[in-house]
Amino acid sequence: MSVLLGCIADDFTGATDLANNLVRAGMRAVQTIGVPAAPLDADVDAVIVALKSRTIAPEEAIAQSLDALRWLQAQGAKQIYFKYCSTFDSTPKGNIGPVTEALMDALGCDFTIATPAFPDNKRTVFKGYLFAGDVLLNESGMQNHPLTPMTDANLVRVMQAQTRRKVGLIDYMTVARGASAIRERIAQLRSEGVGVAIVDAVSNDDLMRLGPALADMPLVTAGSGVAIGLPANFGIAPSSAASALPKADGLRAVVSGSCSLATNRQVADFIASGGPALAIDPLQIAAGVDVASQALGWAAPLLERGPVLVYSTADASAVKSVQGRLGVDEAGAMVERTIAAIARGLVERGVRQLVVAGGETSGACVQALGIAQLQIGAQIDPGVPWCHARSDAVGGAGLHIALKSGNFGTDDFFSKAFESIA
Ligand code: ADP
Repeated sequence: MSVLLGCIADDFTGATDLANNLVRAGMRAVQTIGVPAAPLDADVDAVIVALKSRTIAPEEAIAQSLDALRWLQAQGAKQIYFKYCSTFDSTPKGNIGPVTEALMDALGCDFTIATPAFPDNKRTVFKGYLFAGDVLLNESGMQNHPLTPMTDANLVRVMQAQTRRKVGLIDYMTVARGASAIRERIAQLRSEGVGVAIVDAVSNDDLMRLGPALADMPLVTAGSGVAIGLPANFGIAPSSAASALPKADGLRAVVSGSCSLATNRQVADFIASGGPALAIDPLQIAAGVDVASQALGWAAPLLERGPVLVYSTADASAVKSVQGRLGVDEAGAMVERTIAAIARGLVERGVRQLVVAGGETSGACVQALGIAQLQIGAQIDPGVPWCHARSDAVGGAGLHIALKSGNFGTDDFFSKAFESIA
């Protein structure tokens, strides 16, 4: 049991996004929450270690990433993939540059690539400039990001500010000519002392041409897009077997703490189609009411009949008013804790197919359920796969869980999710 591709992702939903791409390209994949304490106990082609290292101090991000590297090496990983955001979220301090450099040092490799290109998600790189949709990165709204404002779309410059290694470019003209032209360009860049090359890619075809040129590279750094071109290097082709999960059974439920526009529509759609739904009120939680017990009492008699929904999802004005009274962080933390307790209670009451809406909410639920590893299945909608995981809440037995962040999924996502694993 030896892993082919060992991946280190700098955040949780980014890890799922990468896992999803690898599974669609034919690799059986497991995502771990943090660096596991024990060896891998599944027979898979790829492991994605999900860290929360995007915006922490660079030294800490390096330490965690090296920890992940050592664990992946111990599982036999033949190639390492450092995954970051498709908008290259970072500051001049890092963490993309410093982590890349530390991984290169640890692996003893003198050259790697860096590209967040993910054309399926409208992230393209041309002449080294990153586009988000139709506009340059620094005109996309990312220039105003609270933690990682991206004010320059030129990734050669952005990367150069973060690393001591010389940064170069493998541009579109080269990529368009295919793998051997890319290999020649890499040899040329190396001879010029370049250690990291930004790579242009505007289509999936570009990524498929890039893949073979990366076959011998100990370290690849990228968004999740580059992943589609790598499995073929290991003789792996897309197949539905890669996404096979154990058969789903047990009761079904949705918990939602996301207040995004998409989730608001999904909650409304579930209610309109006659699904039993209970709204929980953050002000009641703040007043000391045991909202979780009440919700579980409400759900218990309904679960046998079909999926139930418990949600704090609310529109922007309701959320603002709650935040005004409780504080933004306090309201968020309180609701996350409550929804996580409800998720655990539901699983203890027999729920084995659970959909969670909300990125932070998902993190809280996964933690409350004592989940350490997720086996990645077929996608329900782009970026949201069903997963199978062992949970502490049921003595280590397995359950199916889908973690949907913010704006993902069509309006009928909740019913579609259950239909897709029925
Ligand atoms: P998304 O993926 O849509 O961003 P998250 O779960 O990451 O969803 O974030 C939503 C945040 O809003 C969480 O911290 C959650 O606890 C909080 N929250 C949920 N419902 C409410 C509400 N009704 N009022 C205030 N905050 C809420």
